[in-house]
Amino acid sequence: MADEATNQELMDKLVSLCKRRGFVFPSSEIYGGFNGFWDYGPYGARMKRAIENLWWHEMVETRDNIEGLDSTIIANPTIWKASGHLDQFSDLMTDCKKCKARYRVDQMEDPTTCPACGSKEMTEPREFNLMMKTFVGPVFDDEHVAYLRAETCQPIFVDFNSVRVATRQKLPFGIAQIGKAFRNEINPRNFTFRSREFTQMEMEFFCDGEEGMKWFEYWKEQRLNYYRKLGFDDSCMRIYVHEKLAHYAKAAIDIEVKFPFGWGELEGVHHRGTWDLSRHSEFSGVDLQYLDHDNNRKLMPTVIETSVGLDRTMLALLSKAYDEDTAATKKEGKDEDVRVVLHLPPLVAPIQAAFLPQSKKLTENAYALYKSIDRYFRCEFDETGSIGKRYRRQDEIGTPFCVTFDFDSLNDNAVTVRDRDTMQQERVGITQLRDYIESRIGF
Ligand code: ATP
Repeated sequence: MADEATNQELMDKLVSLCKRRGFVFPSSEIYGGFNGFWDYGPYGARMKRAIENLWWHEMVETRDNIEGLDSTIIANPTIWKASGHLDQFSDLMTDCKKCKARYRVDQMEDPTTCPACGSKEMTEPREFNLMMKTFVGPVFDDEHVAYLRAETCQPIFVDFNSVRVATRQKLPFGIAQIGKAFRNEINPRNFTFRSREFTQMEMEFFCDGEEGMKWFEYWKEQRLNYYRKLGFDDSCMRIYVHEKLAHYAKAAIDIEVKFPFGWGELEGVHHRGTWDLSRHSEFSGVDLQYLDHDNNRKLMPTVIETSVGLDRTMLALLSKAYDEDTAATKKEGKDEDVRVVLHLPPLVAPIQAAFLPQSKKLTENAYALYKSIDRYFRCEFDETGSIGKRYRRQDEIGTPFCVTFDFDSLNDNAVTVRDRDTMQQERVGITQLRDYIESRIGF
């Protein structure tokens, strides 16, 4: 219970920091918000983009056999018939007749009792489809219904042939996409963890079925290594192996990380067999088999999928990074009780280097230095308040390096770089500053 209280407290602090410092706040807040929708403020947008770029770099830019795609959110609705979403993408839900709260049955400890008010008057569980509906064209009738995509991978399967032909890729190869997905979640909760509009980063790897398990193991390891490099070790990351699999799937794992509310899925790695391309072949009438010229045979590619939520990645990074450092405050001669600091990996910190003139008299020189560096890193210039206050402001948003331009800088052509985590200060020559920051960002 004590743990639960602390975790709830951590979550509350995180939500409040995110709002106060412009990471994330409720969508349409002046109208009372909109359940399950979140806006990313200036620091949040920068961090989100940094994570996106990192994933894209890791999955697409640095690999010869992965191609990128940017497809539409709304597409021919038959896609969702073929994928099974229209018939099967649903959760069982139940309502409390007394307090009207609505729940997903699989998330309830006891589906006959309302967790909110304790009432035993629950409705019979009903199927609830998660697809978001809209209309395309001038008439709002059943023939014009379309859907906002529930996952970014289906257009990848649908565009498989076009991408293959355009790029002349041979098996095995992959197609990756980052984009919005929409699900009418019954019970959005845990901040951005379960939202109704969110961003997915998915990669579908097409291979010969005989090599399917080899590639499944390969991608599992690749993705685990990626998270290890972001600082998730065994104490805060684990694998959940699915025992109950979809009828077409050969293997599936979730990469789970520790959130303040407990362990939660961050990414899924799935062996999906030939299901996706077979279904789209069947429903479109277009043969999506691959012709292997080397062996002169046709085969339906097997798919290995890696699928991660961008919003969940950011929440996992922020939760892991949040710290209240009580020992450190005295070091810098401050009288506050705690130093709130986000120990974010420098690669994804919204601001990587803050430039602080020691005095307003040095603004011009410090600003010129800032402008010569801000094309290489995410930088910010801050000249208001004492240096100590400015350090604290930067700690709170996770800035790994604060660069102070002082009166000595005018003579020795060097600046003081203060490290967020150790609070150590180092004198660095201005001409070396770019290399210094770059070498410390790493990955
Ligand atoms: P869950 O079991 O948590 O509902 P899922 O198994 O339905 O998730 P997938 O369909 O495999 O999730 O989606 C892949 C990834 O997309 C998830 O691992 C997660 O990071 C992200 N994701 C899925 N649903 C949401 C949501 N409602 N809000 C934010 N991210 C989501």
